Formats: sequence, structure tokens, C-alpha cells
Amino acid sequence: MTSGAVGTNWAGNHAYVARTIHEPGSLDELEGVVRRGRSLRVLGSRHSFNDIADTTGDLISLARMPRVFELDREARTVTVDGGVRYGELCGPLHAAGFALHNLASLPHISVAGACATATHGSGDRNGNLATAVTAVELLKADGEIVTLSRATDPETFPGAVVALGALGVATRVTLRLQPTFQVRQDLYEDLTLAAVADHFDEITALADSVSLFTEWRGPVFEEVWLKRRVDPATAFVPPPTLHGATRATVPIHPIRRMPADACTEQLGVPGPWHERLPHFRMDHTPSAGAELQTEYLMPRRHAVEALIAVDGLRDRVAPLLQVSEVRTVAADDLWMSTAAGRESVALHFT
Ligand SMILES: Cc1cc2nc3c(=O)[nH]c(=O)nc-3n(C[C@H](O)[C@H](O)[C@H](O)COP(=O)(O)OP(=O)(O)OC[C@H]3O[C@@H](n4cnc5c(N)ncnc54)[C@H](O)[C@@H]3O)c2cc1C
Repeated sequence: MTSGAVGTNWAGNHAYVARTIHEPGSLDELEGVVRRGRSLRVLGSRHSFNDIADTTGDLISLARMPRVFELDREARTVTVDGGVRYGELCGPLHAAGFALHNLASLPHISVAGACATATHGSGDRNGNLATAVTAVELLKADGEIVTLSRATDPETFPGAVVALGALGVATRVTLRLQPTFQVRQDLYEDLTLAAVADHFDEITALADSVSLFTEWRGPVFEEVWLKRRVDPATAFVPPPTLHGATRATVPIHPIRRMPADACTEQLGVPGPWHERLPHFRMDHTPSAGAELQTEYLMPRRHAVEALIAVDGLRDRVAPLLQVSEVRTVAADDLWMSTAAGRESVALHFT
């Protein structure tokens, strides 16, 4: 694939057609670019697998904008700039005694880009990452800056968070925080599809975040990842088996043939939330690197039926696949969210 002047997305499957990329270093510069520009879009960290961040006009990257980290301890919020990545934000947040409610599988993505597209992690009671947003500052196409917040703009705010970058440049995003917490990851191997079908609600409620991985080579989820919030002072002994699956005794990559070095620490070792909730470490390449990902978000009540349907296509799906992941997402009220108004299950194919 030939790439244009702007290069490609992370996966390399999309060469941006944009004519050029602006990298303003200040709000004044950014305003100038927006006032002069036509058909502008903002580029986050390039992790989308499609052309959602592309334009036939010009792109703007906020990576060179000054970092903003405004912690409001009383309100339990942090306001950040539109270019920061989770991997840059979470360490300082933890050091200040705070945490976000959840994270995606990788910390490499930008906060604004992830929230604009309803990026999610897993957890029956965890809304996607955009549900942590309490306010967003937008630089509109006419150069005007508006701030919308959940508290002051209840009518419009739910339409402005998951907005696919279409409403303007998100220059500042305010996120809801909670006190920092510790998480342990325990993995189990070889959970049968029959067990998942019979006990789906019980299994996804086993921990704060549950991921099921399968290669669709048989009616089995080869890996079950359980991420639990823990109090390090209280002993927790995970059961050796769960619905017939056995506890892993060595670290495992979601794509089993790959070494687990890129993965966050497993085997039940407690650690800060931001070093356990993502599957992958910031200083490593997430997932396989050479891959495309597709994901279907469906009403939770259809999840088991969908898994059984994909199992019926196993012979056709497995040869194309590195791995599939099943996660749960709590309902939210963000108009364009993939979990708007309904408990959802995400069925993902790498
Ligand atoms: C290896 C890998 C693992 C992934 N894991 C997960 C996962 O666990 N869960 C999940 O849900 N998704 C996952 N994704 C998908 C990823 O989270 C989304 O594609 C996300 O949008 C990427 O964010 P980004 O910062 O790269 O934004 P980009 O892809 O660069 O842009 C995404 C959108 O956000 C807009 N945007 C970015 N910044 C701004 C801004 N400041 N103002 C306005 N609009 C803006 C862009 O215009 C575009 O519409 C994964 C992707 C990869 C490559």
C-alpha cells in the first residue's frame, strides 16, 4: 500500500488521503488553522482501523499542543488536553491518588479519540470510556470555543461526547475520577462454549472486568481474563477451576502463540489499576501488530445466541482469525454510543 504525505493508520491498512497534517503548538495556532481551514478533521493516535479520522481536506494533530492536567480533588475530576494518551495520563493520576473507572485493552490511544468513538473495556457495571466524560471543550469550525457539560447542558451534552470528531476539535476533556485502586488479573484456560451458554451472566459477573478469548477452532474459549479490584491487605485465593476452566499458571498472550511480554502482569499479582486494566503494556506493541480488527456490539440478551451462531461458522471464521474477544459494556445515555440505552456485549475479531 502506498501512503500519502500523512502516512497510514496504526494497522497500515489505511493511507490517509488528507493533503497535509497541521501540528499546532498552541491554542492560538490551532484557532488559526481552524479559521483558515476547510474540511478539517482531527487525528488522534491513528488506532482506528478505518478512515474515520481522514478527510480530503487537512488533518490536525494535537500531539504537540501543551499538555493540560488540571486536577480538581474536590470535584473528583481531571481536565486534560485533546491530544493526551491514556498511557501518559494514568501514571500521574494514580500518583495523585485517583483512577479512571476503566480502560481499553491498550493505553496507547488518545483520550479524545477513544471517547469520540465510544471505545470500551469490559465489565458488566463499566460504561465505555466516554461515560467518564463530564465536560468537553470544543473549538468549532467557525473558530468559536464552546464548553458543554453534563451538569449545565443535559439536553445536548449526551450528543457531544461520542461525536466521531464531527462537532469540532475537542481541545479539553474533563473526566470523572474515583480514588485509586488495585487490580489483580487471574486467567483461566479452556472454558467450554456450553458452560458460557449456560452460565453467561454468572461468568461475566465473576470479576470487575471479564474477557473471553477464542480462536473458534473448537467450541471453547481458550482464555478467560478476570480483572478484580482488590484490597492488597485482604488475602484473596482464586478458585483453581471455574465452570471446568483451570487457572493459568504462566502468563499468556491473548494470541496464544505470542510471548506474553507485551501483556500487563497476570498470575494474580495486585497492581495499580492502569497497569492491569489494559491487556497490553504502554512500552510494547499491543496485540499482534499485523492485524485488522472488527467488532460487533449487540444487545446483551442476544449474546449467547450470537456466540452459538459464530460457532456454527467456525470452519470459515477460524482460518481468517488470530483471536476473538467477548466483553460486556454497561448501558449509557450517549446518543451515538455503541451501548446507548442498552446493556451490550462486544464480539470482536482480530
Ligand atoms: C491494537 C488495538 C487495540 C484496540 N483495542 C480497543 C479496545 O480494547 N476497545 C475498543 O473499544 N477499541 C479498541 N481499539 C480501537 C480504538 O480504541 C479506536 O479506534 C479509537 O478511536 C482510537 O483512538 P485514537 O486516539 O487512535 O483516534 P483516531 O483513530 O486517530 O481517531 C478516532 C476519531 O476520533 C476523532 N478525534 C481524535 N481526537 C480528537 C479531538 N481532539 N477532537 C475531536 N475529534 C477527535 C477523529 O477525528 C476520529 O473521528 C483498538 C485499536 C487497536 C489498534
